[in-house]
Amino acid sequence: SAENAHAYPLLIKRLLLSGSRYEKTREIVYRDKLRYSYATFNERVARLANVLSEAGVKAGDTVAVMDWDSHRYLECMFAIPMLGAVLHTINIRLSPDQILYTMNHAEDRFALVNSEFVPLYNGIAGQLTTVEKTLLLTDGEDKKADLPNLVGEYESLLAAASPHYDFADFDENSVATTFYTTGTTGNPKGVYFTHRQLVLHTLSMATTMGGLDSIRLLGNDDVYMPITPMFHVHAWGVPYVATMLGVKQVYPGRYEPDMLCRLIKEEKVNFSHCVPTILQMVLNAEGAQGHDFGGMKMIIGGSALNRSLYEAAKARGIQLTAAYGMSETCPLISCAYLNEELRAGGEDERTTYRIKAGIPVPLVEAAIMDADGKLLPSDGESQGELVLRAPWLTQGYFREPEKGEELWAHGWLHTGDVATIDGMGFIEIRDRIKDVIKTGGEWISSLELEDLISRHPAVREVAVVGVPDPQWGERPFALLVLRDEHGLDAKGLKEHLKPFVEQGHINKWAIPTQIALVTEIPKTSVGKLDKKRIRVEIAQWQEA
Ligand code: ADP
Repeated sequence: SAENAHAYPLLIKRLLLSGSRYEKTREIVYRDKLRYSYATFNERVARLANVLSEAGVKAGDTVAVMDWDSHRYLECMFAIPMLGAVLHTINIRLSPDQILYTMNHAEDRFALVNSEFVPLYNGIAGQLTTVEKTLLLTDGEDKKADLPNLVGEYESLLAAASPHYDFADFDENSVATTFYTTGTTGNPKGVYFTHRQLVLHTLSMATTMGGLDSIRLLGNDDVYMPITPMFHVHAWGVPYVATMLGVKQVYPGRYEPDMLCRLIKEEKVNFSHCVPTILQMVLNAEGAQGHDFGGMKMIIGGSALNRSLYEAAKARGIQLTAAYGMSETCPLISCAYLNEELRAGGEDERTTYRIKAGIPVPLVEAAIMDADGKLLPSDGESQGELVLRAPWLTQGYFREPEKGEELWAHGWLHTGDVATIDGMGFIEIRDRIKDVIKTGGEWISSLELEDLISRHPAVREVAVVGVPDPQWGERPFALLVLRDEHGLDAKGLKEHLKPFVEQGHINKWAIPTQIALVTEIPKTSVGKLDKKRIRVEIAQWQEA
């Protein structure tokens, strides 16, 4: 319209243009299978747009992708939203029933399916109510698969398509992506992000990683590989940042420790990000023993980063920085970068700050709220629910208005996390509201206990949950995975925790009297401690 003649919408296509104009020859690598330049990448995005338009994808349609981390996924992160369609990143680690639920709920009209997920897809295909066409994604030689309403195989279709596509401008407030929370309770909930939100998120994240600290996490000459799945909050949005900056990108497919280490070494990957349990897995993997990670920088988020993992990574040459976010927040909210004053401090203090949830990144506002909706002071002491305002928060849950209103009560997004904020703005997550252990009128942070317990040399992994207790309401119960050739019992754990009680870090009720040694701790679909399942398992043991 006339009044918008000079409007310049913030669209995802601008991020692609920036990187591919700047670094035409820089590479994008997929496992040991494929590498191509940004110039080719740019062309392939246009080819994919032609393939999808030809197949009938129109603005407003939702297109599902089921793939491991790949160059194809990256192409979808651009081509699908650039057509005005909505990219639905399917969490392939959810149960088939949950995947079915999310695809019907999101009203997916097209599905791009990796050959490895064809059996899964065909298992639910009969109950999918909206999908009209499918595309096959495959690394194999055999370009055929038994998928219903198959348009064809991705590479063959791209090869035959034109490398030119004239991407139109449209409203920057159009939804670009959607996906579902991991839903450890009830059905997964759909969150969604617009072009404008993703562009602003990308700019703020690039600023944070490039300029807010003495450690430059990601700049043009770094090499990036995600170890957070692209289906989990767009691999935290870093692929958009990397593309905008023209950074060399490496996509590892399905996460196999040997392949990850090999790619880190051969492609000289020096920046990545993941949840703590995945880093632990990588460090402990057989193929990683003796591997030199020197010079590697990583963002750790999604769960609390504890001191022992920070130090274990450091001993292997990896510099970690914690960050905080959630599915509802696109995800970046805060990052543990250190200001001048902290950088000048002692090593121990620097570590203390590097493992906190960090300070809000540019454009984000964070506060602490009590149960009545009153904001509490940022004094490092006052505890309450962490609430947020930022340009890139989901505006609700897809087709669930009541839950959306709860999320946004009092005009702030409610995180469900208990936190403090100190005078410098540092957020410290105390616990999830639902994981706090309430014992004899005291509140115990399960995260703090896990941190203290993980400092015992015998402990490889730990999870603490509250279990019902007739006398105290709840009591902490610790699940432990020990390092090989180590032993630990409840008495030993008590000895280990006693000094922390004496120093006033925890009260004596926090010492778990019940522990269980296990070989594995239940994890969610994205590798976090699954406290809901842990509680159920403990209840089953206690009944037996
Ligand atoms: P899910 O709730 O299924 O795990 P999310 O990936 O959205 O899905 O997780 C967000 C939650 O992860 C936050 O609400 C918070 O409890 C936790 N979290 C994320 N980053 C951190 C961090 N740096 N420290 C502590 N907890 C974190």
